[in-house]
Amino acid sequence: MKKIIKIATGDVTPKRRDVLEMQGIPSDKKPSKKVVTLFNGAVEFFREQARPAGIMIGISKPEFENIYYGEALNEKETPLDIIFRKADHLALFALTVGEEVSRKITELFKTHEFALASMLDATASLGVEKAADSIEKLFFNLLTQKGESTPATTIVRYSPGYCGWHISGQKKLFTFLHPEDIGITLLDSYLMKPLKSVSGVLVAGNKKIHMFKDSYPFCTQCTTRSCHTRIKQFAQTRTSNRDD
Ligand code: SF4
Repeated sequence: MKKIIKIATGDVTPKRRDVLEMQGIPSDKKPSKKVVTLFNGAVEFFREQARPAGIMIGISKPEFENIYYGEALNEKETPLDIIFRKADHLALFALTVGEEVSRKITELFKTHEFALASMLDATASLGVEKAADSIEKLFFNLLTQKGESTPATTIVRYSPGYCGWHISGQKKLFTFLHPEDIGITLLDSYLMKPLKSVSGVLVAGNKKIHMFKDSYPFCTQCTTRSCHTRIKQFAQTRTSNRDD
C-alpha cells in the first residue's frame, strides 16, 4: 500500500555542529561570528520555507528486480543486487524538503552569495538525510506493528546513482512509485526536481545481509566510502532502526 508521509520541519532541521562540519569546520573549533550569522540565516530560511514530505510503497522482490534492472545500465556486480535477494521486505521511497529551498540555493549561487548558498545547501542536504532516516524508522515501525521484524532486523536505503545502481534506474522507480504525488518530478537527466530530494529502496533484513567488502571496481572512484560507516554501525549496535 502506498503511503504519503507528512514530516515536520522541526524533525529534519539539522544541528549547527553538523552543518558546519559538513563544510569543513570541526566541532571542536569555535565558529566566527560571521559563520554563526550565516548559519542562523540559512536555518531560519529552512525552518520557514522547507516543506518536507515523503512517499513509500511496499514492493515484492520480482517487482523490485524489474525496477533494479532499469535500463540495463547497472554495473555487472553490485552490493544491492546481492542484498535485495536476501531481504525480508522491500519498499520504494522518495522524499523532498520542497521546491522553495532548492530554488533559493540556486538563486544564491547565481547572485554570487556563495557563503550563504553553501550554508543553505549543507542545511538542506542534512535535512534530506534526516528525513530519509525518519522514513527508515517508519518502515521499521510498520513492520514491527505487523509482527514482521525481529531483533536483528536492520533497514538500509540504497539509491539509483550510487554503488553500481545506474541513475537511469530512476525511470522505472518513478513509474512504480509516482513521487509526483508529493511534488517530485524526474528530469531527462534523471535528476530530481526539487534537487533536494532523495529516492531509492529500503531493504529490511538481518543486519548480516548488509555487510560486504567495498572491493567492487567502481569503489575506486568513491569519495565517501559511506558503506564503511554503515557497516561499523551494524557492528556496534544490535539494530539501527529503533528509536531507543
Ligand atoms: S565504497 Fe562507495 S561505491 Fe563502493 S560500495 Fe561503499 S559506498 Fe558504494
